[in-house]
Amino acid sequence: MLGRLARWLRLSGYDVAYLKRRRDKEILDLAAREDRILLSRDSLLCQRAQKMGVRCLFVESSDVLEQLKQAVEKLGIRLSDTPVYSRCPKCNGEIIKAGEESIARVPEMVRERVEEFWECSECGQVYWEGSHWRNIKDVVRKVRDVQDTEEG
Ligand SMILES: [Zn+2]
Repeated sequence: MLGRLARWLRLSGYDVAYLKRRRDKEILDLAAREDRILLSRDSLLCQRAQKMGVRCLFVESSDVLEQLKQAVEKLGIRLSDTPVYSRCPKCNGEIIKAGEESIARVPEMVRERVEEFWECSECGQVYWEGSHWRNIKDVVRKVRDVQDTEEG
């Protein structure tokens, strides 16, 4: 249910494990073992987590902007709009500067106008500041705007 939120947190550099269709116990065990904070829209799961001493954020909204805002406020998440501080939104791998071989796989018309490329150290996906990253900057700005409005 929180796939989009997971991808956004990875884009800001957070190590996010995303579990689909797992049993509660499996999720809680993993969170405890790896000392993770559990984010869930399931209030019962959050209650069970708290009993086990696992930190849990009960995500209130189904809207990803609201979810990000809640994560920023409750967990002190810092949103980043710079790819170099990110994790791969697809697989959670670390993002590194792209090597020559990886850059060679990028379409030529992109290579002509883009100077910097990054790649995922796990899955090899290549990233650059194209429209994709412009969207990210927009969303980060929106989340910040909402906060500024509420604070002022
Ligand atoms: Zn990856």
